[in-house]
Amino acid sequence: MSRFPARAVVDLGAVRANARTLGDLAPTAQLMAVVKADAYGHGLLPVARAAVEGGATWLGVAQVSEALALRAGGVTARVLTWLYAPGAPLAEAVAADVDLSVAAPWALREVADAARAAGHAARIHVKVDTGLGRNGLTPDDLPAVVDEALRLEAQGVVRLVGIWSHLAFADEPGHPSLHAQGDLLRAAAADAEARGARFEVRHIAASASTLTDPELHLDLVRPGIALYGLTPVPQLGGPERFGLVPAMTVEAELANVKRLPAGHGVSYGHHYVTPRDTVLGVVPLGYADGVPRHASGQDGAPGAPLGVGGRRLAIAGRVCMDQVMVDLGPGATERAGDRVVLFGTGADGGPTAQGWADAAGTISYEIVTRLGARVPRVYVDGGREVPASGAERVAEGVA
Ligand SMILES: *Cc1c(COP(=O)(O)O)cnc(C)c1O
Repeated sequence: MSRFPARAVVDLGAVRANARTLGDLAPTAQLMAVVKADAYGHGLLPVARAAVEGGATWLGVAQVSEALALRAGGVTARVLTWLYAPGAPLAEAVAADVDLSVAAPWALREVADAARAAGHAARIHVKVDTGLGRNGLTPDDLPAVVDEALRLEAQGVVRLVGIWSHLAFADEPGHPSLHAQGDLLRAAAADAEARGARFEVRHIAASASTLTDPELHLDLVRPGIALYGLTPVPQLGGPERFGLVPAMTVEAELANVKRLPAGHGVSYGHHYVTPRDTVLGVVPLGYADGVPRHASGQDGAPGAPLGVGGRRLAIAGRVCMDQVMVDLGPGATERAGDRVVLFGTGADGGPTAQGWADAAGTISYEIVTRLGARVPRVYVDGGREVPASGAERVAEGVA
């Protein structure tokens, strides 16, 4: 058992239930659970397995290394990877039966070389930039790449299984660009089919459109943040509005508790000054652990929320590298070692990742994803602790 005085408790039962909820919301589409960036900080392999148990038939990752880590961990679901630069280990990915996105003409050439080196056909999804202005082929470049892919398909080098895109304004449901982008993808797919393509899946929806717009579900949906029980559209209400449960709780043990007189400055620069005799608590997590420095309490405004003994308090003063302070109040009975919740399910009014995002001027994605590597992840399922055997197995495989 780790002696680190804080941890992220990840509820795999919540991940499984969220996957089921998302599958029910998009009954005509296949479910791709997006587990890039170490499953948004929750832990790649345990989350991937729970998502598959919850009905995901696909897993989505940005980097090729993430796709290979899934295979090294024994995950057999379909995997799509979509972000790489020239020289990426694509032959390894093809050999590991990973689907590859093709977002540029050079990428198709490299995938074809990789497939020849691996000795079997590469499954590809052509990515179309329908308006986001990020990765993907412009609609102008698409026909030539589709024709070349079909030529390679006839030679048995690739299989053109998917066509896909990503939305610019998904977090603004009803924005006119959403259906315009959806229509462009449908038209691009129809044009490619007229040239001879036979797609298995057309896909454009991430969490926001999975939750709010069935017209964009197409053949497959790609939710990430919703799988973790957080919402990309907090303006519509909390995760419970969609039947989602936040999977991560970050908690710490108080490293010190002591009395301070009125008028005492707290933390670097004394941006908080005790308004009365009080009890100060020291929480052993800081910006090295992903606590945003923008969540400091300063200029009279409280910092990000903290739950202590059923009370809702806030960060007092500056966030430091390894610690933050909390004014526990004059009547506090806490002692060193008592539990502080930074964020969790929000049940009983407790603090949430969304509350942290609001305090730091960011989105909940960044709060969970930037949780530091130093913070141990502990897995629970149905209230019981489970070993993170997946992570260990990968570490052993690498050693
Ligand atoms: C990250 C990502 C997703 C998942 O987005 P969420 O908003 O977290 O659901 C889906 N598709 C692509 C291309 C992504 O980069």
